[in-house]
Amino acid sequence: MQGRRSGEWLEDLLQALYPPLCWLCGHGTADGVACDAHALPAAPPGARCPRCAAQLPRALERSDRCAACRREPFGLERTFALADYRAQPTIREWILAFKHGSRRELAGPLGAALSDCVRERLETLAEAEGERAEVAHVLVPVPLHTWRRVERGYDQAALLARAVGERGGWPVAEVLRRTRATTVQGEAGSSSRSANVHEAFAPVRFAPLARRRLARASWCWLVDDVCTSGATLRECARVLRRLGARRVGALVLARAADGAESELGIEPDSHAHAGEAARGRTMETLDSS
Ligand SMILES: [Zn+2]
Ligand SMILES: [Zn+2]
Repeated sequence: MQGRRSGEWLEDLLQALYPPLCWLCGHGTADGVACDAHALPAAPPGARCPRCAAQLPRALERSDRCAACRREPFGLERTFALADYRAQPTIREWILAFKHGSRRELAGPLGAALSDCVRERLETLAEAEGERAEVAHVLVPVPLHTWRRVERGYDQAALLARAVGERGGWPVAEVLRRTRATTVQGEAGSSSRSANVHEAFAPVRFAPLARRRLARASWCWLVDDVCTSGATLRECARVLRRLGARRVGALVLARAADGAESELGIEPDSHAHAGEAARGRTMETLDSS
């Protein structure tokens, strides 16, 4: 009893000395993650395509896939997003700071939030489908091109995957590599974006190990910050299936509408050229100010 009381006393003292602060802005917070202005969303609004997390039109609210996913039968089986990039602007502030503001430590709270929301939704889904919730999962970050990582100093998708894995107890397998940098096709449609990322990814050089890591999992989840057209994720999924992955899905911080890159000033999910990204950043700054 005495021990418990002194434990509480110590906790109160620590709270008083180090009150929990918002990770993003440093203001006070009740939950230790974010202040009221920067509270992280737990799901994008409206009915969503289970496969790609795009918003479904009203007439198709109960559909199991959107029109784009109908055209891509070998796309992702499921996508979970924490937020919608346009409808929930708070996520933009987090992503911009994480990706372009050198705030690599934000991977922690972002990954934890993504992990919590995914596990909750997987449990609901497993209940609905009569599946076991405790199947084996593995996380695979969408790789960044080497020079891009050098330029930024870190690989945000890999950091995010590690944070999601730490929170959820899921292993991370970095089994993909980017074989070439992809170019920006801001105005182009989905099909040319698909052409842009076609064969831009390959297994890591020691493929048998990659195969073994994927074979153990029932679900293989690609992890990235933003999904726009989904072309990058679909191309990565293709490589993972070739490596023997059974079910491939994606976990992303935000889902943006296809073709929204130039309007919202974000990089297309083909991980744009640095110069274009810098211009995007300027637009985004204007957009969010
Ligand atoms: Zn804040
Ligand atoms: Zn879809």
